[in-house]
Amino acid sequence: MTEDTIARIEKTLIPSTPKKVESQVQHIGKKFGHLTVLEFVGTHPKRKTIFAKCKCDCGDMALVSISDVKRHHTTSCGCRMQSRIIIHGEASSLKRRATNEYVVWVRLRKRAPRSEMCEKWINKKTGYLSFLEDMGRRPDRCFFERIDQSKPYNKGNCHWKPMKPKNPTRLTKLEKLKAEYTEFNERTEWVVS
Ligand SMILES: [Zn+2]
Repeated sequence: MTEDTIARIEKTLIPSTPKKVESQVQHIGKKFGHLTVLEFVGTHPKRKTIFAKCKCDCGDMALVSISDVKRHHTTSCGCRMQSRIIIHGEASSLKRRATNEYVVWVRLRKRAPRSEMCEKWINKKTGYLSFLEDMGRRPDRCFFERIDQSKPYNKGNCHWKPMKPKNPTRLTKLEKLKAEYTEFNERTEWVVS
């Protein structure tokens, strides 16, 4: 967190009541994730939670909610999160869903044996970007497919395959039954009248 960010957060806080400080004081000096709690700065007026200045393992300071720290919702000054976001930003987050390509890659990494997967795609940190570079974005109504099942998953042996459009002449069992029933009814009506 930059000093500016800390100052900006600090401005939004109101003084903490002694009772509130007392209830949290045992956490000072303790370490949660990458953060060591140094001192309390104030209370958030709406969330009613105490904000603490913490020192992160990376050397930076952070001003964060003590309850978020205790519940491990906040585990660093933001440096850990940043390294994750900078890599691609296509995983799911609070604000959006993961991209289609990312979901495919995650499933592939879980499912495919390591020996059958392109070495560039395996790496947890850089694998997704290599995958995206090789395969490109998934076109609409397409799915990921390995062309030759006996060969590994790699750029040359995988593609986005268009889904088959539903064949209108192929009726489901229920549709067939309905059609027969209607035909029968029509015939009977014709006989009766
Ligand atoms: Zn940090």
